[in-house]
Amino acid sequence: MTAKTLFEKVWERHEVVPETADTPAVLYIDLHLVHEVTSPQAFSLLREQNLKVRRTDRTLATMDHSTPTDAAEIAGRVPIKVKSAAQQIQQLEKNCTEFGVELLNLHNSQRGIVHVIGPELGATQPGKTIVCGDSHTATHGAFGALAFGIGTTEVGHVLATQCLLQRRPKTLAINVDGKLPAGVTAKDLILAIIGKIGVAGGTGQVIEYRGSAIEALSMDGRMTVCNMSIEAGARAGMIAPDEVTFEYLQGRPKAPQGAAWDQAVAEWRNLRSDVGAKFDREVNINGNELVPMITYGTHPGMVIPINGLIPNQTNDAVFMKSLAYMGLQPGEQLLNKSIQVVFIGSCTNARLSDLELAAQVMKGKRVASGVRALIVPGSQAIKRDAEKLGLDKIFIDAGAEWREPGCSMCIGMNGDTVASGQYAVSTSNRNFEGRQGAGSRTLLASPATAAAAAIRGCVTDPRELLN
Ligand code: SF4
Repeated sequence: MTAKTLFEKVWERHEVVPETADTPAVLYIDLHLVHEVTSPQAFSLLREQNLKVRRTDRTLATMDHSTPTDAAEIAGRVPIKVKSAAQQIQQLEKNCTEFGVELLNLHNSQRGIVHVIGPELGATQPGKTIVCGDSHTATHGAFGALAFGIGTTEVGHVLATQCLLQRRPKTLAINVDGKLPAGVTAKDLILAIIGKIGVAGGTGQVIEYRGSAIEALSMDGRMTVCNMSIEAGARAGMIAPDEVTFEYLQGRPKAPQGAAWDQAVAEWRNLRSDVGAKFDREVNINGNELVPMITYGTHPGMVIPINGLIPNQTNDAVFMKSLAYMGLQPGEQLLNKSIQVVFIGSCTNARLSDLELAAQVMKGKRVASGVRALIVPGSQAIKRDAEKLGLDKIFIDAGAEWREPGCSMCIGMNGDTVASGQYAVSTSNRNFEGRQGAGSRTLLASPATAAAAAIRGCVTDPRELLN
């Protein structure tokens, strides 16, 4: 029997029609996650063609991108300030009611960022094919699912047929062995990976993250790593499911229950790359050598160790344009650079362990004068859990803002923006020009680094405050 990679096993189980030289494969989709931004046109398409949603039981909608993070707006005590956001929210309510799709609406206690609630509810499971009209769908690959973002037209195709036309990607194994040193997180690991392979390093490939440093990560950490696969250009990221995965999923509302659980786990145990399976390419990384990382440019591949220097690529016009936007110089260090905003949130780093880490840094301290620190949990469930642990009090006592769940400052929505020229240390995943607001300058980092910057008012090595 031919040895197969994890990706090959999942792909082959879902191939309805194999690809040919002229036509892509038809791939069956197990779970379609929907949100308010990329679905309106798709539902309009169904209406125009007089089509139904083929599998409402495999479709789950939530609201995240356009939802306000102000409690008064969520509760309806004041209107949602941004009219277009309010319209998108209303439209998704209307579409889900009309087409019979389950929706976690603005007032639902399970609502949250789409890539947070899928795993949290147990809808994300090993071996599934999962799509969503959002680039960071790769997050769900942390469970051994094949998960990727799709465009608006494809959202319509999946709603109507539960299938998708796809060319088979190539495979890339990233082997991370060793042990991440204290103060080095999953976010630092994925930033270091993108720094090594580049933002096009995974183009046309599905990455499988393997090795002892990956196996040692919690599910939250694995989701952070897979989330940013797209920032290395990859189609998806995957991690083989193991006891950590099963323990996370057991008992979650949409996970299999009783005998079905035992049967599912028995099948999931086979979802590993076979010994001798061939990848199109392999990259090795020594986890022992990693340090906290921070970006300095306008894509996540422009990244340095927290105490490193910005490279001297003065003859690279694109590089210099990026630095000009960021107001930085070649050879400059970021350490001690003043910042004005800190954002701890997004589908990359707004889970409970991320908030716990930030709270560990901020406990008993005050946010530096002149810094706005925004803490946005990834879901209502995470918000409740954090409040049970008293994390909200730690943040509020420190002078940070404790908000309602949503995408928030990751995309600069509903007034959660960074002003032109301001520096923001953000735990999100994208730092291109204007991502957090026109003229905003984003430095991507871990929750520990972001929290340390909030306290000191400048880029800080988090290990100084964690010790
Ligand atoms: S948090 Fe940011 S990256 Fe994640 S789904 Fe929302 S907008 Fe997309």
